[in-house]
Amino acid sequence: MQLPAIDRINLGHLPTPLEYLPRLSRLLGGPNIYIKRDDCTGIAGGGNKVRKLECLLADAQKQAADTIVTQGAIQSNHVRQTAAACAKLGLSCHVLLEDRTGMGDDEFYANGNVMLSQLLGAEVESYPGGTDMNAMMSRKSHALEECGKKPYIIPGGGSNSIGGLGYVIAADEIVNDARSLNIEIDHIIQATGSAGTQAGLTSGLLYLGHNISVTGISVRFPQAPQHEKVYGLAQEILQRLDAPKEMPSENIIIDDRFIGEGYGIPREDTIDAIKIFARTEGILLDPVYTGKGAAGLIQVIKEGKFDKSDNIVFLHTGGAQSLPGFRPAFDLAAVQRMKA
Ligand SMILES: *Cc1c(COP(=O)(O)O)cnc(C)c1O
Repeated sequence: MQLPAIDRINLGHLPTPLEYLPRLSRLLGGPNIYIKRDDCTGIAGGGNKVRKLECLLADAQKQAADTIVTQGAIQSNHVRQTAAACAKLGLSCHVLLEDRTGMGDDEFYANGNVMLSQLLGAEVESYPGGTDMNAMMSRKSHALEECGKKPYIIPGGGSNSIGGLGYVIAADEIVNDARSLNIEIDHIIQATGSAGTQAGLTSGLLYLGHNISVTGISVRFPQAPQHEKVYGLAQEILQRLDAPKEMPSENIIIDDRFIGEGYGIPREDTIDAIKIFARTEGILLDPVYTGKGAAGLIQVIKEGKFDKSDNIVFLHTGGAQSLPGFRPAFDLAAVQRMKA
């Protein structure tokens, strides 16, 4: 089956590479590990939100919007990528940041994605954890309308059925990658948060008729609510595609064992996984999403879930731009200041 035409604009550096990780595969002594480099989508550091924004901003342009309103956590990668895409398209960008953890040092509130989003020209406001961010976005949107603007609201993480289409297209891309590498992919592992990536990917694979299973390593919610979020969104995406099939509930696999204390709080295995990827493959992960996803990948392999001949793809969804905001979590010494 081929995908129907999907409205999108060209923002990213696509297709991204699908690469074999020989040293990591050897280190873990398990299946062959490949990585889909969606950290290389371009746009001010890249990441998975670029694909969603290609579809969302196509819709915003169709509605003649001149201003984007969105929200995210303090170190939001989605916000950085949205700010960059808006700059590129000449749209103004208003972002609402939620302080979900209420912890972190000065760097957490000023460096990493906060600095980059400001540098990219976004207007940034922050709110305490637990704020109804959707209500705040519609309030902001109304205020902008009163000033004569035409705002378009992008939900957190770009995760609605339009944004999810970006990962329907990515499913097709991954299938083509496998064909050109002459491999059969058995399983995909990714971090899941606002759900659009996993919902889009599983919908795309189902639509195209490929039974590659996908595991989402949850970074925020327990298994049941995260399953509901991804499953619900996948059904909406399939409806939008006029798909002849419905998503089987068991196609949505969520593993919630790597969240730790909560969203945005790295655990020891998160930091270890980041160091392993950095030091065996030269690949930077992040403490909020991909570090937890990779901790899940490593643990699942250790549990012997895969055959040695299996081909596993880790979807690198980006995020390394937040690393400077999390420096104390890494226990790395500053070099000594030398006086001239
Ligand atoms: C947003 C994000 C995710 C999660 O993707 P969702 O579509 O929100 O589930 C994973 N990794 C990184 C680096 C992200 O920024």
